[in-house]
Amino acid sequence: MNSGNFIKNFIGGKYVNPISGEWLDNYEPATGQVYSQIAKSDKRDIEAAVAAGENALPIWRSTALEDRFRIMNAIAEGIERRLDTLAEAESVDNGKPVSLARKVDIPRAAANFRFFATAIMHYASESHHMPGVAINYTLRQPIGVVGCISPWNLPLYLFTWKIAPAIAAGNVVVAKPSEITPMTAYLLGEICNEAGLPPGVLNIVHGTGPDCGQAIVEHKNIKAISFTGGTATGARIASIAAPVFKKLSLELGGKNPNIVFEDADLQQAISTGVLSSFSNQGQICLCGSRILVHRSVYDQYVEQFVEKVSRLRIDDPMSPNAQIGAVVSAEHKAKILNHLNIARQEGAKIAYGGQEYQMTGRCKDGYFLQPTVITGLPNNCRTNQEEIFGPVVSIQAFDHEEEAIALANDSPYGLAASVWTENLNRAHRVAEQIQTGIVWVNCWLLRDLRTPFGGMKNSGVGREGGWEALRFFTEAKNVCIKHN
Ligand code: NDP
Repeated sequence: MNSGNFIKNFIGGKYVNPISGEWLDNYEPATGQVYSQIAKSDKRDIEAAVAAGENALPIWRSTALEDRFRIMNAIAEGIERRLDTLAEAESVDNGKPVSLARKVDIPRAAANFRFFATAIMHYASESHHMPGVAINYTLRQPIGVVGCISPWNLPLYLFTWKIAPAIAAGNVVVAKPSEITPMTAYLLGEICNEAGLPPGVLNIVHGTGPDCGQAIVEHKNIKAISFTGGTATGARIASIAAPVFKKLSLELGGKNPNIVFEDADLQQAISTGVLSSFSNQGQICLCGSRILVHRSVYDQYVEQFVEKVSRLRIDDPMSPNAQIGAVVSAEHKAKILNHLNIARQEGAKIAYGGQEYQMTGRCKDGYFLQPTVITGLPNNCRTNQEEIFGPVVSIQAFDHEEEAIALANDSPYGLAASVWTENLNRAHRVAEQIQTGIVWVNCWLLRDLRTPFGGMKNSGVGREGGWEALRFFTEAKNVCIKHN
Protein backbone atom coordinates (compact mmCIF):
# COMPACT_ATOMS: atom_id res chain seq x y z
CA MET A 1 0.00 0.00 0.00
CA ASN A 2 1.22 3.48 -0.85
CA SER A 3 1.24 4.71 2.73
CA GLY A 4 4.05 6.88 3.92
CA ASN A 5 5.02 9.89 5.86
CA PHE A 6 3.93 12.29 3.14
CA ILE A 7 0.23 12.49 2.47
CA LYS A 8 0.16 13.70 -1.11
CA ASN A 9 -2.73 14.83 -3.25
CA PHE A 10 -4.38 12.30 -5.58
CA ILE A 11 -5.04 14.08 -8.86
CA GLY A 12 -5.70 12.47 -12.24
CA GLY A 13 -5.00 9.03 -10.73
CA LYS A 14 -1.50 10.01 -9.51
CA TYR A 15 -0.08 10.95 -6.12
CA VAL A 16 1.42 14.43 -6.46
CA ASN A 17 3.08 16.99 -4.21
CA PRO A 18 1.25 20.22 -3.37
CA ILE A 19 2.16 23.03 -5.77
CA SER A 20 3.22 25.22 -2.81
CA GLY A 21 5.80 22.55 -1.85
CA GLU A 22 4.60 23.08 1.73
CA TRP A 23 3.42 20.49 4.24
CA LEU A 24 1.41 20.50 7.45
CA ASP A 25 2.11 18.42 10.55
CA ASN A 26 -0.30 15.54 11.16
CA TYR A 27 -0.63 14.59 14.84
CA GLU A 28 -1.56 11.26 16.33
CA PRO A 29 -4.13 12.18 19.02
CA ALA A 30 -3.26 9.18 21.21
CA THR A 31 0.38 10.25 21.55
CA GLY A 32 0.33 13.95 20.78
CA GLN A 33 3.23 13.35 18.35
CA VAL A 34 3.58 14.29 14.68
CA TYR A 35 3.47 11.14 12.59
CA SER A 36 3.13 12.39 9.02
CA GLN A 37 3.11 15.43 6.78
CA ILE A 38 0.04 16.57 4.85
CA ALA A 39 0.05 18.41 1.55
CA LYS A 40 -0.71 22.07 2.16
CA SER A 41 -2.77 22.68 -0.94
CA ASP A 42 -4.31 25.87 -2.18
CA LYS A 43 -6.33 27.07 -5.14
CA ARG A 44 -3.64 26.07 -7.63
CA ASP A 45 -4.01 22.42 -6.59
CA ILE A 46 -7.80 22.73 -6.78
CA GLU A 47 -7.36 24.15 -10.31
CA ALA A 48 -5.32 21.06 -11.25
CA ALA A 49 -7.90 18.75 -9.68
CA VAL A 50 -10.75 20.44 -11.56
CA ALA A 51 -8.81 20.17 -14.83
CA ALA A 52 -8.23 16.44 -14.22
CA GLY A 53 -11.92 16.05 -13.46
CA GLU A 54 -12.96 17.89 -16.62
CA ASN A 55 -10.71 15.59 -18.68
CA ALA A 56 -12.35 12.53 -17.18
CA LEU A 57 -15.93 13.80 -17.34
CA PRO A 58 -16.81 12.93 -20.97
CA ILE A 59 -15.64 9.35 -20.49
CA TRP A 60 -17.17 8.83 -17.07
CA ARG A 61 -20.59 10.35 -17.73
CA SER A 62 -20.99 8.07 -20.75
CA THR A 63 -19.63 4.95 -19.02
CA ALA A 64 -22.27 2.19 -18.99
CA LEU A 65 -24.06 1.77 -15.68
CA GLU A 66 -22.89 -1.85 -15.52
CA ASP A 67 -19.28 -0.66 -15.72
CA ARG A 68 -19.80 2.00 -13.06
CA PHE A 69 -21.36 -0.71 -10.91
CA ARG A 70 -18.45 -3.08 -11.48
CA ILE A 71 -15.78 -0.50 -10.66
CA MET A 72 -17.55 0.80 -7.56
CA ASN A 73 -18.14 -2.72 -6.33
CA ALA A 74 -14.42 -3.39 -6.81
CA ILE A 75 -13.66 -0.29 -4.70
CA ALA A 76 -15.91 -1.72 -1.96
CA GLU A 77 -14.01 -5.01 -2.15
CA GLY A 78 -10.67 -3.17 -2.05
CA ILE A 79 -11.76 -1.40 1.16
CA GLU A 80 -12.88 -4.69 2.69
CA ARG A 81 -9.62 -6.43 1.76
CA ARG A 82 -7.72 -3.69 3.61
CA LEU A 83 -9.97 -3.63 6.64
CA ASP A 84 -7.10 -3.94 9.12
CA THR A 85 -4.83 -1.38 7.45
CA LEU A 86 -7.61 1.16 7.07
CA ALA A 87 -8.95 0.63 10.60
CA GLU A 88 -5.49 1.15 12.01
CA ALA A 89 -4.90 4.25 9.89
CA GLU A 90 -8.22 5.70 11.00
CA SER A 91 -7.47 5.01 14.63
CA VAL A 92 -4.00 6.57 14.44
CA ASP A 93 -5.40 9.63 12.65
CA ASN A 94 -8.47 10.15 14.78
CA GLY A 95 -7.78 8.64 18.22
CA LYS A 96 -10.81 6.35 18.08
CA PRO A 97 -10.58 2.77 19.32
CA VAL A 98 -9.34 0.58 16.49
CA SER A 99 -12.12 -1.89 17.28
CA LEU A 100 -14.71 0.80 16.46
CA ALA A 101 -13.02 1.65 13.17
CA ARG A 102 -12.88 -2.05 12.30
CA LYS A 103 -16.49 -2.71 13.24
CA VAL A 104 -18.21 0.48 12.08
CA ASP A 105 -16.27 3.05 10.06
CA ILE A 106 -14.48 0.90 7.52
CA PRO A 107 -17.28 -1.63 6.82
CA ARG A 108 -19.68 1.27 6.40
CA ALA A 109 -17.31 2.96 3.95
CA ALA A 110 -17.34 -0.22 1.84
CA ALA A 111 -21.14 -0.38 2.22
CA ASN A 112 -21.43 3.16 0.83
CA PHE A 113 -19.74 2.17 -2.43
CA ARG A 114 -21.65 -1.09 -2.69
CA PHE A 115 -24.98 0.57 -1.95
CA PHE A 116 -24.62 3.28 -4.60
CA ALA A 117 -23.07 0.84 -7.10
CA THR A 118 -26.29 -1.16 -7.00
CA ALA A 119 -28.59 1.86 -6.56
CA ILE A 120 -27.52 3.38 -9.87
CA MET A 121 -28.50 0.16 -11.62
CA HIS A 122 -32.07 0.62 -10.35
CA TYR A 123 -32.40 4.36 -10.56
CA ALA A 124 -35.38 5.33 -12.70
CA SER A 125 -36.74 8.66 -13.80
CA GLU A 126 -40.38 9.57 -14.27
CA SER A 127 -42.64 10.15 -17.25
CA HIS A 128 -45.89 12.10 -17.19
CA HIS A 129 -48.48 11.52 -19.84
CA MET A 130 -50.91 14.28 -20.92
CA PRO A 131 -53.58 12.13 -22.60
CA GLY A 132 -53.94 12.89 -26.31
CA VAL A 133 -51.61 15.90 -26.01
CA ALA A 134 -48.04 15.11 -25.03
CA ILE A 135 -45.65 12.98 -23.05
CA ASN A 136 -43.12 14.42 -20.61
CA TYR A 137 -40.13 12.50 -19.46
CA THR A 138 -37.46 13.47 -16.96
CA LEU A 139 -33.80 13.14 -17.72
CA ARG A 140 -31.56 13.13 -14.66
CA GLN A 141 -28.09 14.01 -15.88
CA PRO A 142 -24.79 14.32 -14.03
CA ILE A 143 -23.95 17.83 -12.88
CA GLY A 144 -20.27 17.70 -13.91
CA VAL A 145 -17.50 18.52 -11.45
CA VAL A 146 -18.76 18.42 -7.86
CA GLY A 147 -17.06 19.21 -4.54
CA CYS A 148 -17.22 16.97 -1.45
CA ILE A 149 -15.91 18.27 1.89
CA SER A 150 -15.98 16.09 4.99
CA PRO A 151 -15.10 16.32 8.70
CA TRP A 152 -12.71 14.43 10.97
CA ASN A 153 -15.04 12.44 13.18
CA LEU A 154 -15.92 9.55 10.83
CA PRO A 155 -13.23 10.21 8.24
CA LEU A 156 -13.59 7.48 5.60
CA TYR A 157 -17.23 6.76 6.27
CA LEU A 158 -18.44 10.35 5.67
CA PHE A 159 -15.97 10.94 2.84
CA THR A 160 -17.30 7.94 0.90
CA TRP A 161 -20.93 8.72 1.82
CA LYS A 162 -20.56 11.74 -0.47
CA ILE A 163 -18.18 10.44 -3.11
CA ALA A 164 -20.05 7.20 -3.82
CA PRO A 165 -23.38 8.73 -4.92
CA ALA A 166 -21.56 11.51 -6.79
CA ILE A 167 -19.59 9.15 -9.01
CA ALA A 168 -22.43 6.61 -9.28
CA ALA A 169 -24.51 9.39 -10.86
CA GLY A 170 -21.77 10.06 -13.43
CA ASN A 171 -20.08 13.10 -11.91
CA VAL A 172 -16.40 13.66 -11.33
CA VAL A 173 -15.30 14.75 -7.87
CA VAL A 174 -12.87 17.08 -6.17
CA ALA A 175 -12.86 15.96 -2.54
CA LYS A 176 -11.22 17.25 0.61
CA PRO A 177 -11.04 15.30 3.86
CA SER A 178 -10.40 17.11 7.11
CA GLU A 179 -6.77 18.15 7.43
CA ILE A 180 -6.85 16.54 10.90
CA THR A 181 -7.66 13.05 9.56
CA PRO A 182 -6.34 12.66 5.99
CA MET A 183 -4.86 9.15 6.12
CA THR A 184 -7.73 6.92 5.01
CA ALA A 185 -8.67 9.32 2.22
CA TYR A 186 -5.06 9.14 1.06
CA LEU A 187 -5.22 5.33 0.97
CA LEU A 188 -8.50 5.41 -0.94
CA GLY A 189 -6.75 6.75 -4.06
CA GLU A 190 -4.75 3.60 -4.49
CA ILE A 191 -7.83 1.43 -3.97
CA CYS A 192 -9.64 3.38 -6.71
CA ASN A 193 -6.74 2.89 -9.13
CA GLU A 194 -6.67 -0.84 -8.45
CA ALA A 195 -10.42 -1.05 -8.99
CA GLY A 196 -10.06 0.55 -12.43
CA LEU A 197 -11.66 3.93 -11.72
CA PRO A 198 -10.56 6.09 -14.65
CA PRO A 199 -7.97 8.73 -13.66
CA GLY A 200 -9.55 12.06 -12.77
CA VAL A 201 -12.97 10.73 -11.74
CA LEU A 202 -11.99 11.13 -8.09
CA ASN A 203 -9.44 13.75 -7.10
CA ILE A 204 -8.46 14.08 -3.45
CA VAL A 205 -6.85 17.28 -2.29
CA HIS A 206 -5.49 17.83 1.22
CA GLY A 207 -5.07 21.06 3.14
CA THR A 208 -6.76 23.47 5.47
CA GLY A 209 -10.40 24.51 5.33
CA PRO A 210 -9.76 28.20 4.60
CA ASP A 211 -7.10 27.55 1.89
CA CYS A 212 -8.11 24.33 0.23
CA GLY A 213 -11.76 23.79 1.23
CA GLN A 214 -12.78 27.30 0.40
CA ALA A 215 -11.04 27.10 -3.00
CA ILE A 216 -13.34 24.16 -3.82
CA VAL A 217 -16.41 26.14 -2.77
CA GLU A 218 -15.30 29.20 -4.77
CA HIS A 219 -14.25 27.43 -7.97
CA LYS A 220 -16.55 28.54 -10.74
CA ASN A 221 -16.56 25.17 -12.54
CA ILE A 222 -17.58 23.22 -9.44
CA LYS A 223 -21.34 23.32 -9.63
CA ALA A 224 -22.42 21.48 -6.49
CA ILE A 225 -21.03 21.22 -2.96
CA SER A 226 -21.81 18.44 -0.53
CA PHE A 227 -20.50 19.46 2.88
CA THR A 228 -20.53 17.84 6.31
CA GLY A 229 -19.10 19.75 9.23
CA GLY A 230 -19.84 22.44 11.76
CA THR A 231 -22.80 24.83 11.49
CA ALA A 232 -20.64 27.97 11.37
CA THR A 233 -18.56 26.55 8.50
CA GLY A 234 -21.76 25.50 6.72
CA ALA A 235 -23.10 29.05 6.95
CA ARG A 236 -19.85 30.42 5.53
CA ILE A 237 -19.95 27.96 2.64
CA ALA A 238 -23.58 28.82 1.91
CA SER A 239 -22.74 32.53 1.84
CA ILE A 240 -20.20 31.87 -0.94
CA ALA A 241 -22.03 29.20 -2.91
CA ALA A 242 -25.65 30.40 -2.75
CA PRO A 243 -25.17 33.76 -4.58
CA VAL A 244 -23.63 31.91 -7.55
CA PHE A 245 -26.43 29.30 -7.48
CA LYS A 246 -24.41 26.21 -6.68
CA LYS A 247 -26.36 23.20 -5.54
CA LEU A 248 -25.75 22.74 -1.80
CA SER A 249 -26.16 19.93 0.65
CA LEU A 250 -25.17 20.85 4.20
CA GLU A 251 -25.00 18.26 6.98
CA LEU A 252 -24.19 20.18 10.15
CA GLY A 253 -24.05 19.99 13.93
CA GLY A 254 -26.48 18.56 16.45
CA LYS A 255 -27.56 18.59 20.09
CA ASN A 256 -29.56 15.42 20.02
CA PRO A 257 -32.17 14.54 22.64
CA ASN A 258 -32.49 11.02 23.96
CA ILE A 259 -35.95 10.75 25.60
CA VAL A 260 -36.63 8.02 28.12
CA PHE A 261 -40.27 7.53 29.13
CA GLU A 262 -41.37 5.80 32.31
CA ASP A 263 -42.60 2.78 30.33
CA ALA A 264 -39.25 2.23 28.57
CA ASP A 265 -37.17 -0.92 28.80
CA LEU A 266 -34.78 0.84 31.17
CA GLN A 267 -31.88 -1.57 30.81
CA GLN A 268 -31.89 -1.18 27.03
CA ALA A 269 -32.32 2.58 27.31
CA ILE A 270 -29.34 2.80 29.65
CA SER A 271 -26.93 0.55 27.74
CA THR A 272 -27.75 2.15 24.39
CA GLY A 273 -27.73 5.58 26.06
CA VAL A 274 -24.13 5.02 27.19
CA LEU A 275 -23.15 4.00 23.66
CA SER A 276 -25.01 6.89 22.10
CA SER A 277 -23.35 9.40 24.44
CA PHE A 278 -19.78 8.14 24.36
CA SER A 279 -19.10 6.21 21.14
CA ASN A 280 -16.14 7.75 19.37
CA GLN A 281 -15.59 9.89 22.50
CA GLY A 282 -18.95 11.57 21.83
CA GLN A 283 -17.68 12.86 18.50
CA ILE A 284 -20.48 11.58 16.30
CA CYS A 285 -22.93 14.16 15.01
CA LEU A 286 -25.72 11.72 15.97
CA CYS A 287 -24.59 11.21 19.58
CA GLY A 288 -27.30 11.81 22.18
CA SER A 289 -25.88 14.69 24.21
CA ARG A 290 -29.07 15.58 26.12
CA ILE A 291 -30.81 12.77 27.95
CA LEU A 292 -34.36 13.58 29.06
CA VAL A 293 -35.75 11.11 31.60
CA HIS A 294 -39.23 10.86 33.15
CA ARG A 295 -38.99 11.97 36.78
CA SER A 296 -40.41 8.68 38.11
CA VAL A 297 -37.39 6.74 36.80
CA TYR A 298 -34.83 9.56 36.81
CA ASP A 299 -32.86 8.59 39.95
CA GLN A 300 -32.71 4.95 38.90
CA TYR A 301 -31.61 5.91 35.38
CA VAL A 302 -28.87 8.29 36.55
CA GLU A 303 -27.50 5.85 39.12
CA GLN A 304 -27.27 2.93 36.69
CA PHE A 305 -26.07 5.11 33.82
CA VAL A 306 -23.21 6.52 35.92
CA GLU A 307 -22.32 3.04 37.13
CA LYS A 308 -22.02 1.82 33.51
CA VAL A 309 -20.03 4.89 32.46
CA SER A 310 -17.60 4.33 35.33
CA ARG A 311 -16.81 0.91 33.84
CA LEU A 312 -15.93 2.25 30.35
CA ARG A 313 -12.32 1.46 29.65
CA ILE A 314 -10.19 4.42 28.58
CA ASP A 315 -7.15 3.04 26.81
CA ASP A 316 -4.66 3.32 23.97
CA PRO A 317 -6.93 3.30 20.87
CA MET A 318 -4.71 0.55 19.44
CA SER A 319 -5.64 -1.74 22.31
CA PRO A 320 -8.46 -4.12 21.37
CA ASN A 321 -9.96 -3.46 24.82
CA ALA A 322 -10.23 0.33 24.49
CA GLN A 323 -13.79 1.65 24.71
CA ILE A 324 -12.80 5.31 24.96
CA GLY A 325 -9.80 6.59 23.02
CA ALA A 326 -8.35 10.07 22.57
CA VAL A 327 -10.29 13.11 21.38
CA VAL A 328 -9.17 14.34 18.02
CA SER A 329 -6.79 17.21 18.79
CA ALA A 330 -5.26 19.35 21.50
CA GLU A 331 -7.49 22.27 20.40
CA HIS A 332 -10.59 20.14 20.56
CA LYS A 333 -9.67 18.85 23.99
CA ALA A 334 -9.22 22.44 25.21
CA LYS A 335 -12.60 23.35 23.72
CA ILE A 336 -14.34 20.51 25.57
CA LEU A 337 -12.61 21.41 28.87
CA ASN A 338 -13.75 24.99 28.39
CA HIS A 339 -17.33 23.74 27.97
CA LEU A 340 -16.95 21.82 31.24
CA ASN A 341 -15.90 25.04 32.98
CA ILE A 342 -18.94 26.79 31.57
CA ALA A 343 -21.11 23.93 32.85
CA ARG A 344 -19.64 24.33 36.36
CA GLN A 345 -20.25 28.09 36.25
CA GLU A 346 -23.83 27.36 35.23
CA GLY A 347 -24.23 25.26 38.38
CA ALA A 348 -23.86 21.77 36.96
CA LYS A 349 -23.41 18.78 39.19
CA ILE A 350 -20.70 16.57 37.72
CA ALA A 351 -22.16 13.12 38.40
CA TYR A 352 -19.13 11.45 36.80
CA GLY A 353 -15.85 12.50 35.15
CA GLY A 354 -15.19 16.12 34.28
CA GLN A 355 -11.40 15.87 34.13
CA GLU A 356 -8.55 15.15 31.79
CA TYR A 357 -7.39 11.55 31.91
CA GLN A 358 -3.66 11.01 32.34
CA MET A 359 -2.36 8.01 30.42
CA THR A 360 1.07 6.47 30.88
CA GLY A 361 3.63 4.99 28.45
CA ARG A 362 3.15 5.59 24.73
CA CYS A 363 0.01 7.68 25.29
CA LYS A 364 1.27 9.92 28.11
CA ASP A 365 1.00 13.07 25.96
CA GLY A 366 -2.24 12.06 24.22
CA TYR A 367 -5.55 13.92 24.33
CA PHE A 368 -7.61 11.86 26.77
CA LEU A 369 -10.67 12.93 28.75
CA GLN A 370 -12.92 11.16 31.20
CA PRO A 371 -16.43 10.48 29.99
CA THR A 372 -18.53 13.08 31.78
CA VAL A 373 -22.10 12.97 33.07
CA ILE A 374 -23.73 16.25 34.07
CA THR A 375 -27.00 16.74 35.95
CA GLY A 376 -28.91 19.63 37.44
CA LEU A 377 -28.91 22.08 34.54
CA PRO A 378 -32.01 23.58 32.87
CA ASN A 379 -32.43 23.15 29.13
CA ASN A 380 -31.92 26.82 28.30
CA CYS A 381 -28.29 27.05 29.50
CA ARG A 382 -25.27 27.03 27.17
CA THR A 383 -24.32 23.49 28.16
CA ASN A 384 -27.67 22.19 26.91
CA GLN A 385 -27.92 24.46 23.89
CA GLU A 386 -24.43 24.44 22.33
CA GLU A 387 -22.82 21.52 20.57
CA ILE A 388 -19.87 20.29 22.67
CA PHE A 389 -19.00 17.34 20.41
CA GLY A 390 -17.11 15.41 23.06
CA PRO A 391 -17.62 12.80 25.78
CA VAL A 392 -20.08 14.95 27.74
CA VAL A 393 -23.75 14.23 28.35
CA SER A 394 -26.29 16.20 30.36
CA ILE A 395 -29.29 14.47 31.97
CA GLN A 396 -32.54 16.31 32.78
CA ALA A 397 -35.87 15.21 34.26
CA PHE A 398 -39.35 15.83 32.80
CA ASP A 399 -42.85 15.27 34.18
CA HIS A 400 -45.03 14.57 31.16
CA GLU A 401 -44.97 13.84 27.42
CA GLU A 402 -45.67 17.41 26.26
CA GLU A 403 -42.81 18.69 28.38
CA ALA A 404 -40.46 16.06 26.96
CA ILE A 405 -41.36 17.09 23.40
CA ALA A 406 -40.99 20.79 24.25
CA LEU A 407 -37.56 20.22 25.81
CA ALA A 408 -36.42 18.06 22.88
CA ASN A 409 -37.46 20.78 20.43
CA ASP A 410 -36.03 23.64 22.49
CA SER A 411 -32.75 23.64 20.56
CA PRO A 412 -31.32 25.50 17.59
CA TYR A 413 -30.39 22.09 16.17
CA GLY A 414 -32.56 19.35 14.67
CA LEU A 415 -30.42 16.44 13.58
CA ALA A 416 -31.50 13.28 15.45
CA ALA A 417 -33.46 12.03 18.44
CA SER A 418 -34.01 8.74 20.25
CA VAL A 419 -37.28 7.85 21.97
CA TRP A 420 -37.52 5.04 24.50
CA THR A 421 -41.01 3.70 25.19
CA GLU A 422 -42.89 0.42 25.02
CA ASN A 423 -46.09 2.28 24.09
CA LEU A 424 -46.58 2.13 20.32
CA ASN A 425 -49.08 4.98 20.19
CA ARG A 426 -46.75 7.21 22.15
CA ALA A 427 -43.81 6.28 19.89
CA HIS A 428 -45.70 7.41 16.78
CA ARG A 429 -47.16 10.49 18.47
CA VAL A 430 -43.82 11.71 19.78
CA ALA A 431 -41.85 10.87 16.61
CA GLU A 432 -44.28 12.99 14.60
CA GLN A 433 -43.74 16.03 16.81
CA ILE A 434 -39.97 15.93 17.24
CA GLN A 435 -38.21 18.44 14.99
CA THR A 436 -35.26 16.34 13.84
CA GLY A 437 -34.35 14.71 10.54
CA ILE A 438 -34.23 11.25 12.10
CA VAL A 439 -36.08 9.78 15.08
CA TRP A 440 -34.97 6.42 16.45
CA VAL A 441 -37.43 4.49 18.57
CA ASN A 442 -35.85 2.05 21.03
CA CYS A 443 -32.53 2.14 19.17
CA TRP A 444 -29.72 4.42 18.05
CA LEU A 445 -27.50 4.63 14.96
CA LEU A 446 -29.42 1.96 13.09
CA ARG A 447 -29.08 3.06 9.46
CA ASP A 448 -30.81 1.88 6.32
CA LEU A 449 -28.93 3.56 3.48
CA ARG A 450 -32.14 3.84 1.42
CA THR A 451 -33.64 6.35 3.85
CA PRO A 452 -33.22 10.13 3.64
CA PHE A 453 -30.59 11.45 6.01
CA GLY A 454 -30.08 15.02 7.19
CA GLY A 455 -31.04 17.66 9.68
CA MET A 456 -33.66 20.33 10.33
CA LYS A 457 -33.05 23.85 11.67
CA ASN A 458 -29.32 24.62 12.22
CA SER A 459 -28.42 21.00 11.50
CA GLY A 460 -28.49 21.62 7.79
CA VAL A 461 -30.37 21.60 4.53
CA GLY A 462 -30.75 18.88 1.95
CA ARG A 463 -30.97 15.15 2.45
CA GLU A 464 -28.41 12.48 1.70
CA GLY A 465 -28.97 8.74 1.39
CA GLY A 466 -30.75 6.61 -1.21
CA TRP A 467 -32.51 8.32 -4.10
CA GLU A 468 -32.15 11.68 -2.33
CA ALA A 469 -28.38 11.56 -2.84
CA LEU A 470 -28.67 10.51 -6.48
CA ARG A 471 -31.19 13.31 -7.03
CA PHE A 472 -28.83 15.81 -5.41
CA PHE A 473 -25.99 14.78 -7.69
CA THR A 474 -28.07 15.00 -10.88
CA GLU A 475 -29.89 17.76 -12.69
CA ALA A 476 -33.43 17.08 -13.71
CA LYS A 477 -34.46 18.09 -17.21
CA ASN A 478 -38.02 17.71 -18.44
CA VAL A 479 -38.51 16.82 -22.11
CA CYS A 480 -42.04 17.55 -23.34
CA ILE A 481 -43.03 15.96 -26.67
CA LYS A 482 -46.31 17.05 -28.19
CA HIS A 483 -48.28 14.54 -30.24
CA ASN A 484 -48.81 15.50 -33.85
P1 NDP B 1 -15.55 21.89 10.34
O1 NDP B 1 -16.76 22.63 9.91
O2 NDP B 1 -14.51 22.62 11.08
O3 NDP B 1 -14.82 21.21 9.11
C1 NDP B 1 -15.47 20.34 8.20
C2 NDP B 1 -14.69 20.33 6.91
O4 NDP B 1 -14.78 21.62 6.31
C3 NDP B 1 -13.22 20.03 7.09
O5 NDP B 1 -12.75 19.31 5.97
C4 NDP B 1 -12.63 21.44 7.12
O6 NDP B 1 -11.27 21.45 6.79
C5 NDP B 1 -13.46 22.12 6.07
N1 NDP B 1 -13.51 23.58 6.16
C6 NDP B 1 -13.26 24.38 7.22
N2 NDP B 1 -13.40 25.67 6.87
C7 NDP B 1 -13.77 25.70 5.57
C8 NDP B 1 -14.08 26.74 4.64
N3 NDP B 1 -14.02 28.04 4.98
N4 NDP B 1 -14.43 26.39 3.39
C9 NDP B 1 -14.50 25.09 3.02
N5 NDP B 1 -14.20 24.07 3.84
C10 NDP B 1 -13.85 24.36 5.11
O7 NDP B 1 -16.11 20.64 11.17
P2 NDP B 1 -15.27 19.57 11.94
O8 NDP B 1 -14.30 18.92 11.03
O9 NDP B 1 -14.80 20.20 13.22
O10 NDP B 1 -16.39 18.48 12.24
C11 NDP B 1 -17.21 18.51 13.35
C12 NDP B 1 -18.58 19.06 12.99
O11 NDP B 1 -19.16 18.28 11.97
C13 NDP B 1 -19.52 18.98 14.17
O12 NDP B 1 -20.24 20.18 14.26
C14 NDP B 1 -20.45 17.84 13.79
O13 NDP B 1 -21.71 17.91 14.37
C15 NDP B 1 -20.52 17.99 12.31
N6 NDP B 1 -20.94 16.74 11.69
C16 NDP B 1 -22.19 16.67 11.12
C17 NDP B 1 -22.65 15.48 10.58
C18 NDP B 1 -23.99 15.38 9.93
O14 NDP B 1 -24.22 14.40 9.22
N7 NDP B 1 -24.88 16.33 10.11
C19 NDP B 1 -21.83 14.28 10.63
C20 NDP B 1 -20.55 14.46 11.23
C21 NDP B 1 -20.13 15.66 11.74
P3 NDP B 1 -10.13 21.34 7.93
O15 NDP B 1 -10.59 20.37 8.96
O16 NDP B 1 -8.99 20.83 7.16
O17 NDP B 1 -9.96 22.71 8.46
